[in-house]
This record gives sequence, structure tokens and C-alpha cells, in this order.
Amino acid sequence: MLRRMTTEYIDVVIVGAGLSGIGAAWHLQDKCPDRRYRILEERETLGGTWDLFRYPGIRSDSDMYTLGYKFKPWTEGKAIADGPSILKYIRETASEAGIDQNIRYQRALTSANWSSEDAAWTLEVRDTASDETTTLRCGFLLMCAGYYNYRQGYLPEFKGYDRFRGRIIHPQHWPDDLDYRDKKVLVIGSGATAVTLVPEMAKEAAHVVMLQRSPTYMGSAPDTDWKARLLQWLLPEKAGYAIARWKNIQYQRWIYWQSRAAPNFVRRKLLKMARKDLGDGVDFDKHFVPRYGVWDQRLCLVPNGDFFHAVRDGHASIVTDTIAEFTASGVRLDSGEHLDADIIVTATGLDLRLLGDVTISVDDQPIDFSEKFSYKSMMYSDVPNLVSTFGYINASWTLKADLTAEYACRLLNHMTETGMRQCTPRLRAHERDMAGSDWIEGFSSGYIQRKMHLLPKQGTESPWRNTQNYTLDRKTIGEGPIDDGVLEFSRP
Ligand SMILES: Cc1cc2nc3c(=O)[nH]c(=O)nc-3n(C[C@H](O)[C@H](O)[C@H](O)COP(=O)(O)OP(=O)(O)OC[C@H]3O[C@@H](n4cnc5c(N)ncnc54)[C@H](O)[C@@H]3O)c2cc1C
Repeated sequence: MLRRMTTEYIDVVIVGAGLSGIGAAWHLQDKCPDRRYRILEERETLGGTWDLFRYPGIRSDSDMYTLGYKFKPWTEGKAIADGPSILKYIRETASEAGIDQNIRYQRALTSANWSSEDAAWTLEVRDTASDETTTLRCGFLLMCAGYYNYRQGYLPEFKGYDRFRGRIIHPQHWPDDLDYRDKKVLVIGSGATAVTLVPEMAKEAAHVVMLQRSPTYMGSAPDTDWKARLLQWLLPEKAGYAIARWKNIQYQRWIYWQSRAAPNFVRRKLLKMARKDLGDGVDFDKHFVPRYGVWDQRLCLVPNGDFFHAVRDGHASIVTDTIAEFTASGVRLDSGEHLDADIIVTATGLDLRLLGDVTISVDDQPIDFSEKFSYKSMMYSDVPNLVSTFGYINASWTLKADLTAEYACRLLNHMTETGMRQCTPRLRAHERDMAGSDWIEGFSSGYIQRKMHLLPKQGTESPWRNTQNYTLDRKTIGEGPIDDGVLEFSRP
């Protein structure tokens, strides 16, 4: 590996050119035009998730009026949009604002070391094409690196995995040449990916079986939001979008609040709706009644009831069981049943990772983030000049991404106005013995639980709480004072 030293200095480095990174760049250009920035992107193209995932039917599972940026109206017909339309929207945002000029592709940030003496980060950036590593300096890091491992998805250990003679596909790496017409397809998993894939593949496959360990809550909703369309038709584009966005934010909050306040009511309502769409031909209690509470995991959206209809019409079916082993022709279940398949899709989830796997140090001391408290759920105790984006688990990702970027801009402007160069969240004396709890509470999804021990902690009080509450965050993060007595400012 070659190493090249440069002394180039950039004010702000954004890591990642996905939905969050492009949004962060837009806010930075808009609110901090005096700051020079650059985006480092590991891949050859922008879009992140919406470029990487290419499985049949790939779509959002939240509405685009809230998954879209607050500054750029979503004008396409469907609120639940397909992956290519979302990618087009991100690309358009980047080119319209000239953000694409500031992206450096195939540049992976591998390590970042903060020097308190210089008030600067020294970044090691690997060129993924040549394997050459370059050094770059910057005053502020805005991490928009997503939340999962791009190289591989999560795959549990399956006995006899190599015995299967057909093709095994992980949805994160969908091959261009996969022909599943008239084939028997087995989809392992019951999350959003499986629920998207099954009805889509069932259109052409001989039959699709979804094999799940346990049932998931599914809610059917139309893919087009007619009220939002009407608002956009009646009002000027920006005003119509803003009201539709506000309406859907309130709706998301209402559903989540109801699920927490009256879980049995919401549970009954969801199950009743699913039962109606499915008809009488399935063992409903076995395959559709989850063992956990509503919103202990993300709710699976079924646009226009497509999944239920595929099952009702016999193009797809569900098996609830566990895998004993893979065989040459399918999988054998613990119940003894054998499921035959030509193609197996392992929709078994993501491999969560924090901060793009970058090794972060402060004054040459590596940071163990599991020992740190998260500040306003976007900075970390004792780690200066670093803001990272992590969306909500109970609302659209972009709501938090926009808030995070706006906060970073307010912080940068505050530092310019006061002549400060370093800002570090510090636990106050009475907080030093504060009990830490899981960063994400009350959420039992496997991909979060598997890696929870690596995530930072949250404290008992603001600003150390990770509220998962957009309305509250708008006040504390969006409008609260920057100099709050917790963020320590200095001019080294
Ligand atoms: C299939 C799927 C569907 C989803 N649907 C929804 C939905 O409907 N609603 C919702 O709210 N959320 C959804 N999500 C979550 C989704 O990931 C976010 O909505 C959003 O796309 C995340 O954007 P991001 O830019 O933060 O991260 P990403 O899209 O993951 O982009 C991160 C970028 O950072 C780059 N990167 C990472 N590490 C480094 C590094 N060290 N150096 C340089 N570059 C790096 C990556 O290459 C990537 O381009 C979905 C996720 C998946 C996987």
C-alpha cells in the first residue's frame, strides 16, 4: 500500500454521498457558504442505500413526503417510491446545487485523529481503486456514512449451507443475471426486504415461499397519498409539499404514540386489517400474529396490500419454522418438513456498523464509542468537532438527517462568530457517574440487538438522551441554544 502525505486542509469533510451526505452538503452550502467542504465517498457513485440495493421491487417503506428533504419537494406521483426514483431524486439534488463537484469517489476514510493542539482532524483516506492512502486535514467531520456494512449483509450460520445446488442470493448483492421465471423461490426472513421481495418475485416465479422464524406486524396502506397530491395540486409546489410533510410527520407520530399508549388497540386493528386482506385460506394465528409488542420492531408496510394478495391468491405462501439444515435441493426444517427450492434468497438483514468503520482517535488515543455518551444523539462525549447522522427508528430517516445537518451548520456559524475552533461535549461534574442505558431503547430488531454493545450509551437527561422523538428534537436540537454549558468551546 502506498502512502502519500499532503497538507491540504478543508474546513469540513462530509463522509458518505448517500441521502444524508448530499442533504448535509446542501445545508452547508446554504447556511455556511464561507466554509469549504468536500465529500468523501467510498463507492464509485452517489446514492448510498438507494444505489446499492437492486432487488426486485426495491422501494421505500416510509412516505417520500417525510423521507424526502425538507428543502426539495417530492413531486413524483407515488408516496411509497421505488428505489430508482429515490436515487434520481438524490442525484437531482446533487446536480442542481452543484454538490456533485465536491464529491471525491472511491475515497474511503479509514482513520481520523483529532489534534487538540492544532484543532484539526488528520484523515487517512484510501483510494479504493489504487489502494493508495492519502492524508488530508480538516477542521470538522460530518459523518454521513450510514449504519450498515456495505461489503456484506448479515448471514446467520446455516448448517450445510454449501450443500445447496441452486443459487443463494443476499438482497444486498442482487445479480443482474438472475432469472427466476417459473422457478421455485425460497425467501428466508420476514422483515421489510422479504415483504417487498415476495409479492414482486411471485409475479414471475413458479411459487415463492417466505420462511420466517416468527411473524412480523404488517400494515397495508395505499402507495399514493391522495391528500398530499391534492395539496400539491392546489397550492404552490413548496407550500403543498411543506403541508403534506407536516401532515405525514404528525401521522407517523400519532401511529407511534398510539402503539405505545394503547398497544393492544393498535395490535387488534393491524391484525384485523391483515386478516381481512388475506381471507380465510391461511393459518392466521400461526403466520401473522407476532409474539412481540407493536413497534418493538419497525412496522412492515404492505403497499396496496400486495403481499397479502400474493398469499391469498396462492402465488406465495408462508412457513413459520426454523431451519435445521440446507440440503442439495432446499432446506430441511426443525419440524422435519423439507422446502424445495431452485433459488434461496437470504433476506436475513444488515450488519450494523457505526461511523463507517472509521478508527477515530483524539490526540492519538483511540476512542471506544461504547464508553461514550451520545450528545443530542449526534455528537459524543469527549470527541471534538464531529457530528454524525443516524435517523429515527420510528420515523423517516431524513427528518433526523435534516435536523442534524442544520444543527451542524448552526454550530459552525456559532464558532465563526465567537472565534472558537474546538467544540467538545463534556459530562458536567454531576453527570460523571450518570447511569448509561442502551442507545436505542425498547427496540428488539435483531440487527440492532446484535451490535448494541458497540453503540454509545444514552444518559438519563437531556442532552444525553436519544429521544426518538422528532417533535421534541426540533425544539432541543433545532432551536435550543448552541452554547448550553455542556458543549465546551475553546480556541487552541
Ligand atoms: C433496503 C432499505 C430500505 C430502506 N427504506 C427506508 C425507508 O423507507 N425509510 C427510512 O426512513 N429509511 C429507510 N432505510 C434506511 C436508509 O438507509 C435511510 O433512509 C437512508 O437511505 C440512509 O442514508 P445515509 O446517507 O445516511 O446512508 P447510506 O445510504 O447508507 O449512505 C452512506 C454512504 O456512505 C458511504 N460510506 C460509508 N462509510 C464510508 C467511509 N468510511 N468512507 C467513505 N464513504 C463511506 C457509503 O459508501 C454510502 O454511499 C432503508 C434502508 C434499506 C437498506
